[in-house]
Amino acid sequence: MMNLNKFMFTGYNVSRDCGYCRSGEPTEHFGLLSKELKCEAYQDLVDRGWRRSGHYLYKPNLRTSCCPLYTIRLNADEFQITKVQKKTIKKWAKLVTGKPLNQKATKNSIEYLKNAFEQIEGYEDQTHSYTVKLESAEYTDEKFELFKKYQISVHHESEEEVTKKGFERFLCSSPLVTNNKYGSFHQLYRINGILVAVGVLDLLPHAVSSVYLFYDPEYSSFSLGRLSACREILLAAEEKYQFYYMGYYIHKCTKMRYKGDYSPSYLLNPETNDWLSIKHFTQLWEKGASDYVTFENVDENNDELKSKRVEPLPKLSDIDEEEPPSVYERSLPGILDEDAAKSLLRKNYITIGDSTLPLNAVLGLFPRLENLYIEANAALGSNVGKDYTLVFSQ
Ligand SMILES: [Zn+2]
Repeated sequence: MMNLNKFMFTGYNVSRDCGYCRSGEPTEHFGLLSKELKCEAYQDLVDRGWRRSGHYLYKPNLRTSCCPLYTIRLNADEFQITKVQKKTIKKWAKLVTGKPLNQKATKNSIEYLKNAFEQIEGYEDQTHSYTVKLESAEYTDEKFELFKKYQISVHHESEEEVTKKGFERFLCSSPLVTNNKYGSFHQLYRINGILVAVGVLDLLPHAVSSVYLFYDPEYSSFSLGRLSACREILLAAEEKYQFYYMGYYIHKCTKMRYKGDYSPSYLLNPETNDWLSIKHFTQLWEKGASDYVTFENVDENNDELKSKRVEPLPKLSDIDEEEPPSVYERSLPGILDEDAAKSLLRKNYITIGDSTLPLNAVLGLFPRLENLYIEANAALGSNVGKDYTLVFSQ
């Protein structure tokens, strides 16, 4: 029972505060607060549609939300750089070294990135110096000052809204068990020693997962979002993480379309948890398909993937905070069926205070726990579902 992933149960959540469309339409997810999470486990969860914000882990319900959140990833080894992406790198190189990029003929896009970034990183002459360094995700005042400047200028937050505590919670603190290869990191970009950008990254067994980027707004004409994405793709390819995850993709949210500009991108098919080329989805959306698209047969070699007909669920008119609906009542896509979730109960643990016990030992006393565990198992899936404990305070 050592080394279990540790969660606190928060459960099914319905809110009318969609941060993407601001329509006031419901948005639903299942959530757990994570105290401690192994990187292998988080990788497994990300590949089932989960994502984290600080210590909070959530799996959105694509079926019932106004803006369905599709997990998107790129195979870095097959990356096809575009002209616009090259232009961004050249412009940045000129700024940080004072001279044009020396363009060698390269056999593929990763070689192109490697040649470009090797020329500029560590560059130093009498008036220029430029470094890019990956370090632990620790809080520093220097990072916070840059974050504050960015939030105020780019996201129009007020000075009072941007707090050290919020920054710490959102971008430094992480449940991931971190070593020198996997865990939560910050990638620091410096010009002449001055911090100009920070990429917040989770490094997982097969993922460089981008959490956030903040930068000095004085450089906003340099497309640092694109520049850092190219740098992170190179990291994924060079260090053999293989895939680059950009979080969620929402087709109708134009602010997010840029994520599809990195090719070849794949979306997680919500009900089968398989990866399919983004084109299968966008083709349907462009023909006017509903926001929620899922495919039945997932053989990628089959040109005619069949999208599944899904009847809409009744909207939740009243939100009962005391008795939230279950993942089954709300048809959360991609979860285990009830029998499979139940069969994991005998592998579940409970932590009360300092003691961790097999769930079976206490279920007789607290029969209502069973439903919590069934839901957590369903949403976590069969791997993480047999490798965690739920923590209850005394
Ligand atoms: Zn929305």
